[in-house]
Amino acid sequence: MLEFPSSHPTDRLYDGFGRLHRSLRISVTDRCNIRCFYCMPPGPLNFLPRNEILTYEEIVRVVRVATRLGIHKLRITGGEPLVRSEVWQLIDRLVGIEGVEEVALTTNGMLLAEQASQLRQAGLGRINISLDTLREEVFESISRRKGLDRVLEGIAAAQDAGFTKIRLNALSIRGLTEDDIVPLAAYAFERGMELRFIEFMPLDAEAKWDSAQVLSGSAVRAVIEEAYGPLLPVSRQDASQPAVDYRFADRPGRIGFINPVSEPFCNHCDRLRLTAEGQIRNCLFSTQEWDVRSLLRDRTVNDAELAKQFVTAVAEKKAGHGIESPEFLRPERAMYQIGG
Ligand code: SAM
Ligand code: SF4
Repeated sequence: MLEFPSSHPTDRLYDGFGRLHRSLRISVTDRCNIRCFYCMPPGPLNFLPRNEILTYEEIVRVVRVATRLGIHKLRITGGEPLVRSEVWQLIDRLVGIEGVEEVALTTNGMLLAEQASQLRQAGLGRINISLDTLREEVFESISRRKGLDRVLEGIAAAQDAGFTKIRLNALSIRGLTEDDIVPLAAYAFERGMELRFIEFMPLDAEAKWDSAQVLSGSAVRAVIEEAYGPLLPVSRQDASQPAVDYRFADRPGRIGFINPVSEPFCNHCDRLRLTAEGQIRNCLFSTQEWDVRSLLRDRTVNDAELAKQFVTAVAEKKAGHGIESPEFLRPERAMYQIGG
């Protein structure tokens, strides 16, 4: 059985390719208040029953174990994390765990106006808000719901609440969002927020993804450069970050590109995931999971046994996701069931 040393966090989470794992993405729900076509089916949906979802108490215990293995960055996600009741209470507890250096959240922003101040008070350090378009009709065709105004109110509320680390994440879809690139950049620059464009990955629930829909980061960058002038790459401070960031030579503004399809960045991946029902995944595209929920709910199981699940998941991590390979196998779960 794995024994914890009494004091310092260990660096046990090295995989077979020398990658050290330090980030954990925690999904707190598979539910969502919108239905983005690149993630969820239109419905009806069979969401997980409440008793299958980890309680906040259980998540806190898992994080205590993970930090002792060297995890120090957490991101709360889902589904839509703000539909889970009083998620700030969880954040408040996670922030206080020894070894946790940053707690971040990814949200669609629909409920942010109501919750921004509580999240800030709880100690949330960073918010990523998904914003693919500034046009209501495109928002509706992506998310199959109305609500762009609410998202924009949520972004303003996050700024008013005092968040300084706000990043906008825009998923780019060929044939749909080309005309949003420059307006989104202008919107982010005017508000002093970072913007990242993300490529569409084959994780949509309906399995309709087609590589022809992928609007590559380099294509988006060309549009930005045409409008604003040349972009210069910013040297990476953290090799494990998925984005390549750029700045302008002669004007403020920073733009990042997350190109998992055209330029996979698996070589430096340091991420693990915990699904809402307590399964560890070592990759978004993993076809295997390591159960912690049943261990958490078995009173005879101690923390060292929970830790072992993390160590095993990391040891079995593959070199890369292999989207580009003819042998690529889509995971059975869609993005909302994994936690993006
Ligand atoms: N509901 C929250 C939100 O939308 O921000 C958090 C969960 S969502 C799954 C996290 C991120 O995954 C979002 O920025 C979303 O755009 C992205 N995403 C969802 N499906 C995707 C896909 N098929 N390919 C790439 N990114 C995707
Ligand atoms: Fe909901 Fe986020 Fe998935 Fe859109 S991407 S359906 S907001 S979980």
